[in-house]
Amino acid sequence: MPSLQFDRLGTLTGLLRDRTVRLAVTGLSGSGKTAFITSLVHNLLSAVGHPARLPFFRATAERRMLASRLDLPGAEPIAPFPIHDAIAALAADPPYWPASTTDLRRAGLTLCFAPAGFLGRATGGTAELHLEILYYPGEWQLELSPLGQTYRDWSRATLERARCGARAPLARDWLDFLARHPADSAGDAEAAQRAHILYRSFLSACRTQEQLSLLQPGRFLNPGQIADPSLLWFCPMPFAIGAHAREGSMAALMEARFDVYKRTVVQPFFTQLARGVDRQIVLVDVLRALNAGPAAFADQRLALETILAAFRFGRRTILRLLFGARIDRVLFAATKADHVPALQRDHLEALMANLVAVPTLRAEAAHARVAATALASIRCTEDGTDVIDGRKVDVVIGLPEGSERRIRFFPGIVPVSPPPKGFWGERFTEFPVFQPPRITPAAADGVPHINLDKAIDFLLGDILA
Ligand code: GDP
Repeated sequence: MPSLQFDRLGTLTGLLRDRTVRLAVTGLSGSGKTAFITSLVHNLLSAVGHPARLPFFRATAERRMLASRLDLPGAEPIAPFPIHDAIAALAADPPYWPASTTDLRRAGLTLCFAPAGFLGRATGGTAELHLEILYYPGEWQLELSPLGQTYRDWSRATLERARCGARAPLARDWLDFLARHPADSAGDAEAAQRAHILYRSFLSACRTQEQLSLLQPGRFLNPGQIADPSLLWFCPMPFAIGAHAREGSMAALMEARFDVYKRTVVQPFFTQLARGVDRQIVLVDVLRALNAGPAAFADQRLALETILAAFRFGRRTILRLLFGARIDRVLFAATKADHVPALQRDHLEALMANLVAVPTLRAEAAHARVAATALASIRCTEDGTDVIDGRKVDVVIGLPEGSERRIRFFPGIVPVSPPPKGFWGERFTEFPVFQPPRITPAAADGVPHINLDKAIDFLLGDILA
């Protein structure tokens, strides 16, 4: 595992100054963003009274957290993350999973702490960290590749993917429609909208039926707040080799919409992300992709590569070049690690690091730090053993949602690197949805987790040093 090491530099630079830090939490739909933010906020609010919950978060382990409070939503344009509803869901009897959202959300916390290190001790002072947590759909980050492409190139790449593998049968209705309304036919707004709807249904089927991840444009499935929905009424179109969109044609209509969409929706989002974010955690449901089979797993890798393109570090990162990004720490986290027992969690962490090629990223990193981990934001299981076919195996024990009895669940073996072909013969059994543990609504005991404290330490430890 690439260790989440403490950065001593922060001790010298960020010291004794009140600071605002913006942490972006992203990941594709269902990857665990809502659960992560709920657990992060509740655990930080509980950290002063119950530091033992976060033993690997140095500021609490060293008893330097003095107070923490939730900031009331101010006049920001971003809607608040529904933290009270989320905590109420976990505190209900029986507890249930908080509903996730598909739009941008924000939560603010103030952490009051005693700085460590020489200067902190010398002054005996305290400092405040204003932590702004931004929730945004990872689908939006997939837009970086269309942003750098012409409509023609994007169309070609997207159609190529749509015509093979698991996508092909799902794309049939949409492609049949395009065959009847080819690129050089007369531009017709109604037909363009219909083509868009069919394309969106195709993307949606790819997600729900095949668990695919690289589904662009991401806002077709997670639109967020878009003032004018007609901005989205386009889709890729097949072009003859060397052909250009003829004026007044379907292709010209689609191309114009694609360009407006990039300019007015995608670009402003990346500008905001680049200028407004200091740290980022990317949550990835690696286990679900493994579970869904080779096509879903390969597709998740492609989606990760697209997301990673934004973080090719060094002086030449795309985000920096385009928008002057300042993100200096990124953590890739395989989520829901409580579905597998301890040894498999180490495998999961190794697999996550392998998928995003952490060593390469590190070598390229001029100003940023990057790491990978496996975590469970809300731990629903405990580890145990069972005997299967006369063999003792490690399992997790938990209560499936809606059930009366806890089960012993053997998830199979998590590979430490992208698995070879033979692996897929013995796919995992479907993961149960475990009931979350019941928590107290007041900030007191926090939320059980796995490795959340290490993640917080990597993302914020230097600032609280
Ligand atoms: P989002 O769409 O990225 O916000 O995903 P959510 O946070 O809503 O998570 C989707 C679902 O994944 C939840 O409803 C849970 O069933 C499951 N989940 C999320 N985090 C965990 C976790 O730490 N442990 C377990 N066992 N399940 C989790």
